[in-house]
Amino acid sequence: AKEEEVPLSVANRRMSRQIMVGSVPVGGKAPVSVQSMTTTLTSDVDATLQQIAELTAAGCQIVRVAVPSADDAAALPIIAKKSQLPVIADIHFQPKYVFAAIDAGCAAVRVNPGNIKKFDDKVGDIAKAAADAGIPIRIGVNAGSLDKRLLEKYGKATPDALVESALWECSLFEEHGFGDIKISVKHNDPVVMIEAYRRLAARCDYPLHLGVTEAGPQFQGTIKSAVAFGALLAEGIGDTIRVSLSCPPVEEVKVGNQILESLALRERGLDIVSCPSCGRAQVDVHTLSERVSAALEGFPVPLRVAVMGCVVNGPGEAREADLGVASGNGKGQIFVKGEVIKTVPESEIVEALLEEAVRIAEERGIA
Ligand code: SF4
Repeated sequence: AKEEEVPLSVANRRMSRQIMVGSVPVGGKAPVSVQSMTTTLTSDVDATLQQIAELTAAGCQIVRVAVPSADDAAALPIIAKKSQLPVIADIHFQPKYVFAAIDAGCAAVRVNPGNIKKFDDKVGDIAKAAADAGIPIRIGVNAGSLDKRLLEKYGKATPDALVESALWECSLFEEHGFGDIKISVKHNDPVVMIEAYRRLAARCDYPLHLGVTEAGPQFQGTIKSAVAFGALLAEGIGDTIRVSLSCPPVEEVKVGNQILESLALRERGLDIVSCPSCGRAQVDVHTLSERVSAALEGFPVPLRVAVMGCVVNGPGEAREADLGVASGNGKGQIFVKGEVIKTVPESEIVEALLEEAVRIAEERGIA
């Protein structure tokens, strides 16, 4: 039978204008990018560059660094120069750091409209400096620092308050002919955040940076971000994402990439499809799937690997996988596309899968 077309794809994305964050296009038909933020003191250049290297290795595409002090601003030139990723300077209060970041060669600057009063008379100068340098500005609205005027008008950080704040700040830059902008309207409640982005998406064509702010510890934050980003991206909304977690930023990148892979917005890398296990299981599926994940982490070929708990149903249930194992009786049946190719002792399962994965990679001309 003819395969039904899957509706979710890049083709269904909201068409936003495209901006460039360094070498990374954001918006338009560009793939959704993953970004994160360093947790080091920006003024500690070595530690910051080290963390950026770790983020790069984890698949991060854009990195943001906080610039709360003059020492941090002073560190920007060398960080911008040596970073493998485009660097966005995150600036809340001090317009002079915006100019410093632009001079330092940062790929973009993020400003927060809640603090715009301090920028007010400087918007024209900032727009000109950014335009001259050819870099975009992110308008980063945050529920926690919403403009007082809007808080009074709406009572709290509602979706409309967030949207109004963002569009108002955009208009300040637009007045100076500057439209090289991306926007975020972050809230810690995914329900409010989703609605804010939906309304914002309908009212402008700026690329959107998705984020749930203060999403929380790893487990809760991962779920909140996956749910919120998933809902929006499935509607075609969102051009770049940052998962905020209270844990090392590399974890944010892993979650971000996994969200995009889950929605097929990015080529799937390693996809472990382990069975949930049941009364028929003859092996500890949980431990085995973790060992297989660890052994294949970073494998250069997209691969779907099944780890199944029993030989009766395993190979059949995992027919769609590139390869897999079904365990029983202290042994593992290694199968490729649902066909059992060999049986190995349980202690050799991981090794056998790895061997088979390398063979598949060679077949595809990659390893
Ligand atoms: Fe149960 Fe076997 Fe299915 Fe795993 S593969 S859920 S052990 S029936």
